[in-house]
Amino acid sequence: MPELPEVESIRLVLERRLVGRVVKKCPFVRLKPWNPASERMLSHIFHPFNEAKMSVLLGVSQKAYVRAYEASLRYFFKHIEGKVFSQIRRSGKYLLFYFTSLHRTEQSSKNDAITTPKARSVQKETQHTKIQDTEAKFLSSGECLLVVHLKMAGQLLIVEPGEINRSDHVHLMMVFERMSKKRRIGIKQESQWLLYRDTRFGELLPIFEKSYLNELFGVEKSRNLERHVRISAPLKMAFSKRQRAVFETLYLAVVKRLARVGVDPYYEVKARVYKVIAAAVMKYSDKALYDFLMDGSYLAGIGNIYANEISHLTGLAPLRKMRLLTEKEQRELTTHLRYVLKGAVASHGTSLDKSISNKNSRINGKQAVSFKKSTHFRLPDGMPGTYARTLRVYGRAGLQCLRKQCRGKIVKQRHAGRSLYFCPQCQY
Ligand SMILES: [Zn+2]
Repeated sequence: MPELPEVESIRLVLERRLVGRVVKKCPFVRLKPWNPASERMLSHIFHPFNEAKMSVLLGVSQKAYVRAYEASLRYFFKHIEGKVFSQIRRSGKYLLFYFTSLHRTEQSSKNDAITTPKARSVQKETQHTKIQDTEAKFLSSGECLLVVHLKMAGQLLIVEPGEINRSDHVHLMMVFERMSKKRRIGIKQESQWLLYRDTRFGELLPIFEKSYLNELFGVEKSRNLERHVRISAPLKMAFSKRQRAVFETLYLAVVKRLARVGVDPYYEVKARVYKVIAAAVMKYSDKALYDFLMDGSYLAGIGNIYANEISHLTGLAPLRKMRLLTEKEQRELTTHLRYVLKGAVASHGTSLDKSISNKNSRINGKQAVSFKKSTHFRLPDGMPGTYARTLRVYGRAGLQCLRKQCRGKIVKQRHAGRSLYFCPQCQY
C-alpha cells in the first residue's frame, strides 16, 4: 500500500516529467472496476457516494443519478483537454492534479502564494477553520482538479503507446504534450501517456474549483454557458441542475476528506510535528503508539511499514501506550519519524519484490519496462523504490535485530488486522 514516501516519490516524478505540459486528450476513462470481486465492494472506482442516498438527496431515480454522474465525469475529462497541467500537490496520501487554462497559469500561481494560510496551533484548529483552510490551501488555485488516492494497489505510470493494454486494469489514460508556444515547425511533438492502473479499488475524484463551477454553470454568464454546451454537444450533454449537483457533492466530499488529513510530517517543521505528538500524549492517553502513527488525522500519510520502522528506530514497543511516553521519548520519536520518512523518500519508497530487497541487485533503465507490469509499488517511470533494503523490522520476522549490541530476534504479531514487527529485546 503506497504511504507518504511512495506518494511523494510519485509526485516528484510527475512534477518533473509532466507539469507544464498540455493535456492533449483523455482517450480512455473506465468508471467501473475490472475486478468483479471489488465490484461488489464499490460499484464505481470514481464513485464516493451511496447511490440510493444520492438519488434521494437530488430527488431523481437511482438510474438517472448514475447516468448524470457518469456523464459529468466524462464531461470533466473532455473539458480538461487543452488545459495545462499546472501543478501537482500532495496532502497526506492524496495527490492533487491541477489543470488550468493556458492564459491563467501565471495568474493562479500568484494567487497561490497569497491564499496559503499561516500555520495555526494544533489546539485552536476547529473543524470549521480546518475546512476553510483546506479550501484556501488546496481548492482555490486551479480550475479543474483531479484528486487521486491510490488506496491498496493504485499505480500512476508514464508509458509508451501500446506498452500496457487497456484491459490490464487501466481506468484512465491521459496524453500530454509540450506547450504549443514552444512548438517549432518540423519538430515532432513528443507525447507522454499517463495511465492510472488499479487491480483493486482506488479513488479518482474529478472536481471543478468553486468559482470556476459558477463560471461553467452560473446563470449570470449565460453566453459562456451556450458556448460550453456547444463544445460538449458530441457528448450529448446538456447542463442541468443535476450535473451541477454532482460536481457540488464531489467538491464537498473532497473538502471533507482533505480537511481530515493531519499534519504532514514530511513537509512541516519539526516543532509542529512535535506539538502534534505532545498533544496526542495528553489526549490519546490509552491508545497505542502504533495506532497513533496509523491515524492520519494526527500525522498524515504513515502506514503499516513506516509505523513499524519508526517504532523500532525510536526503541519504543508499537503497543506502548501514548500516555507513557516521556518528554525525551516524544522528542526522539519526532526526530526518528522524520528521519525514516525522509530516508524513504530519498530511496523513492518501498517496493516489496524479493529481487529488489536484495542489496546486491542492480536496477537499470531497461528493466523498467518489464517492471511496469508488476503490481508492486512502482514510480511512474516503472522504477521500483529501494527502501526495502533499508527496512529494519518490516518483513524480517525471525531474523536478527539490527540494533547494535542487541541479540534479540524480530517478532511478528497480529494487531487490528495488521502485522506488527518489533524486537522484544530493545523496544519497550
Ligand atoms: Zn533489538
